[in-house]
Amino acid sequence: MNLDTSPIAAIATAPGRGGIGVVRASGKNLNGLAQALFGATALQPRHATYIPFKNADGSIIDQGIAIYFKGPHSYTGEDVLELQGHGGPVVLQMLLARVLEAGQEYGLRLAEPGEFTRRAYMNDKLDLAQAEAVADLIDASTEAAAKSASQSLSGAFSQTIHALVERVTHLRMLVEATLDFPEEEIDFLEKSDARGQLKGIVEALDQVFRQASQGALLREGLNVVLVGQPNVGKSSLLNALAGADVAIVTPIAGTTRDKVSETIQIEGIPLNIIDTAGIRSHDEAVDVVERIGIERTWGEVGKADVILHLLDADHGPTRADEAMVEAFPAGVPVLRVWNKIDLSGHKPSVDEMSDATHVYLSANEKLGIDLLRGELLRIAGWQQTGESLYLARERHLIALRSASRHLDLAGQHAAQTDQSLDLFAEELRLAQVQLSSITGAFSSDDLLGVIFSRFCIGK
Ligand code: GDP
Ligand code: ZN
Repeated sequence: MNLDTSPIAAIATAPGRGGIGVVRASGKNLNGLAQALFGATALQPRHATYIPFKNADGSIIDQGIAIYFKGPHSYTGEDVLELQGHGGPVVLQMLLARVLEAGQEYGLRLAEPGEFTRRAYMNDKLDLAQAEAVADLIDASTEAAAKSASQSLSGAFSQTIHALVERVTHLRMLVEATLDFPEEEIDFLEKSDARGQLKGIVEALDQVFRQASQGALLREGLNVVLVGQPNVGKSSLLNALAGADVAIVTPIAGTTRDKVSETIQIEGIPLNIIDTAGIRSHDEAVDVVERIGIERTWGEVGKADVILHLLDADHGPTRADEAMVEAFPAGVPVLRVWNKIDLSGHKPSVDEMSDATHVYLSANEKLGIDLLRGELLRIAGWQQTGESLYLARERHLIALRSASRHLDLAGQHAAQTDQSLDLFAEELRLAQVQLSSITGAFSSDDLLGVIFSRFCIGK
C-alpha cells in the first residue's frame, strides 16, 4: 500500500462501454496539471466546462466536461480534477495516459485500488465505517442492501457509534474523577447512578448490535447448496424460489452437469443458491468430467451455510440419498425438502424432526414454497424488527461484541461489594477503544490496507 501523498489519477468509471467515462485526478495542488492540460482556459471550481481534451501536440483526444474541485471541498479533501469524456475503453485509456503525462513533472501516478477513498478518510471527509460503506454501496446486490449501505455512508451508523462512545466516555470521566478522591468512592456508584447509566448503555449497544447483525445479513447473504438425486426437481425448485426460469429443467436425468449458481433474494437477503450436478456417489461416476464435477460439488457443500437436500416425496429416499447424508459435512444445517407432494399426497408442511427440519412441497405446483422461504430466513437468523439496518461488516460485529463483553465485565465489577472502581473504569476504556475502532479512531495501517485494497481502482 502506497502511503505517499503524491497526486494520483485513474479511470473512475467501470470498464466497458458507456455514454460517458470519467478520468479523475486528486492531489494537494492540481493547478499545474490543469494548466498543462487546458493552457490559458482557467477552470472555475465546481463549474462544468465543455472543453477539448488535447494531446501535447495539440491533437484532440476527445471533447468533454472538465470539473475542478478546489480542496478541501472535494471527495478526497484535496484538489480534484474530473474529466468526463466518452465512455469507451480506448478513448479513456488515451485520456488517462495524457493526464499522467501532463502531470509527470508533479509526480502524478496511477492510483491504487481504493486510494481516492483512502484519501477521503485520511483527510477526514469520511470516517472508516463510511469509507467501507462506499465499497458496500457499489457492491450491493439487493435494493435493501443498497439502502442500508447508503444509510451508513450518510453517517447514520457512525453517529450511533459516536453517541455510544460519548456515553461511555462520560461515565468513564465520572469514575476517573472519583478515583482521585478515594473517600468518595464508596457511595459513588449510588450517587451518580453509574449502574443505571451502564444499563442504559448496554441496552443501546444491544440495539445497535441487532441492527448491525441483521444488516450484515443483507451484505453477506446466505450460501445455499441444493443437492439431490437426478430428476428429483432441483432445477424446478430453484426456478420456483427465483420466480423465473434460471436453470434448465428437463425430464432427462443428469442434465445439470455443471453447477448453476443463482442469486435470488428473500426479503432483501441475497441467497446464493448453487444447483449441483446430479450428484451420484463418488464411486459411481462414469467418466473423468463427471468425477471432477462431483469433486467440485462436494467442495461447495463444505462451504454452504445450509444444505437443501431434495428428495422425492413420492418414491421416498434412495440408497444414494442415504449415502449422501453420510457424506454431509458436520455442522452445516440441513433442510430435508420432500418435493412432488402433488404426486405423493402429502400436505405442504414443516416438520421439526430430530435429524433435521423436513419441508414438504411441490416445486411444479408451487405448493409450500413460502414455507421453505420462511425456513431459509429462520436459518439466516432474520428477524422482522422494523428497525433501520446498518450494512455492517464482520469487523464491526466483532468490535460490537467485544465492547459488549467489556461492558458486562464493568457491570460485574460494579456489582461486587468491594467494588474496584479502577477495574470498572478500565473496562469502560476497553469498550470505548472497541467502539472507536469501528469509525477508525484507533485503526492500524494493516487494517486500513485490508479495507482499501479491496476497492477497485478509481474508487
Ligand atoms: P433435477 O434433475 O433435480 O434438477 O430435476 P428437474 O428440476 O430437472 O425436474 C425433473 C422432472 O421432475 C421434471 O420433469 C419436472 O417437471 C419434474 N418435477 C419437478 N418438480 C415437480 C413436482 O413438484 N411435481 C411433479 N409432479 N413433478 C415435478
Ligand atoms: Zn437440474
